[in-house]
Amino acid sequence: MPAQLHYQSITQLAAALAAKEISAVELTHAVLARTTAVDARVQAFNSRDEPDALTQAAASDARRASGEACGLLDGIPVGLKDVIAVAGQPLTAGSKILANFVSPYDATVTTRLKQAGAVLWGRLNCDEFAMGSSTENSAFHPTANPWDVTRVPGGSSGGSAAALAAGEVVAALGSDTGGSIRQPAAFCGVVGLKPTYGLVSRYGLVAYASSLDQIGPLARTVEDAAIVLGGIAGHDERDSTSFQAEIPDYRAALATRSGPWRIGIPKEYFGEGLDPEIGAAVERAVKFYQAQGCEIREVSLPHTQYCLDTYYIIATAEASSNLARFDGIRYGHRSKNAKDVVDLYFQSRAEGFGAEVKRRIILGTYVLSSGYYDASYLRAPQVRTLIRQDFLNAYREVDALLTPTSPIPAFKLGEKSDPLAMYLCDIYTIGVNLAGLPAISVPGGFTTGGLPIGLQLIGRPFEEADLLALAHTYDRAHDWNKRHPAL
Ligand code: GLN
Repeated sequence: MPAQLHYQSITQLAAALAAKEISAVELTHAVLARTTAVDARVQAFNSRDEPDALTQAAASDARRASGEACGLLDGIPVGLKDVIAVAGQPLTAGSKILANFVSPYDATVTTRLKQAGAVLWGRLNCDEFAMGSSTENSAFHPTANPWDVTRVPGGSSGGSAAALAAGEVVAALGSDTGGSIRQPAAFCGVVGLKPTYGLVSRYGLVAYASSLDQIGPLARTVEDAAIVLGGIAGHDERDSTSFQAEIPDYRAALATRSGPWRIGIPKEYFGEGLDPEIGAAVERAVKFYQAQGCEIREVSLPHTQYCLDTYYIIATAEASSNLARFDGIRYGHRSKNAKDVVDLYFQSRAEGFGAEVKRRIILGTYVLSSGYYDASYLRAPQVRTLIRQDFLNAYREVDALLTPTSPIPAFKLGEKSDPLAMYLCDIYTIGVNLAGLPAISVPGGFTTGGLPIGLQLIGRPFEEADLLALAHTYDRAHDWNKRHPAL
């Protein structure tokens, strides 16, 4: 039986399960025990249901015992960010307004993971409605970075990344609107993949900014991320933005797609504000790829300087509309102090939403209001087209782009109290969402202070198989993912 079950990869565990060296119940017990031992310090979960996890694990063992064909995810404990619906389980989106809400149905990704036999284990903490980069905007509690519990795990999928780094789940799902899978993956030393817009259904995802949101995997290795992506990707008639695409075998593609690739280095991503140790890690990765026979070229994404403004106009405008549904009438928090029905809307929302969510609703309502609409909102989608065009132009010369995931490593809890300072953390990740592209963050080393560094690879739309193969080439040649926090 492999040692430290909670730190094994899906591939290792699937082999052990198939060989009957371990059972899904034993594996789930190991993960639950690890969670009990460390989660008081990490605080990655918003809710957990041990009996439910063990029941799912026992069902997996029964399937295997009966001789049913079991896929790689069968019996593997997977955590879900608390914005993804699981029937009969709490769904809070990190918000007081949904504190007592229980989901009546499964998200499509939930249904697919259940069909694959995964053991769905816990709802993982996040910034309220996925708005933030540190998980400090959760209405319930912050989550700590397992590598240094005085620091943030990143966000908004901070619970997913921290739980993985701490060995409390074997893989996890997050959502990424402007970097929320990739940046926490970078801060916690794990892999995080944001798929192409339209590849993974958002049915059952609590919406933040619908033209940007995507669900994707966080995992220990690129190979594991490929396995989870294969489990959740594909057309869904219940999401009107879902793409009709043939889903390749992403894991098999790791072996068959072998480059050599032409890799672009966008010069705008290496300016002021980049931590020199992160810059040095990217340079080492450049040398690695050159040694593999890849061609490295400098490219330009000239509209990068407009990404942040464009993102914060589009994301807040869409959020102000999406969050209108939380009115205290149909579900969620309802104020007990209202004088009349109009007051009920005001009070319920005033009591239920946190400061950052209110800031964004106000900003989004402002950019959409008549008089400001033409000057601010209407321009943003136009600039967005230019940003996407930058990437597509670059892809005439290169197959993928290599950048840092975040300009800085994990910062201290409480350090970034100015919202603008927090927004600046997303500088390298939001362009990808505006352009609808796939991108992955892979562990790329550690700072001298022992904090993980993330490397971002950005691919062509719907070419996840190539992107994963390129990332795997780096990942399998390095052992960053074999190191674990002391905790
Ligand atoms: N940090 C960004 C924001 O606050 C991105 C969040 C996300 O990707 N969900 O909007």
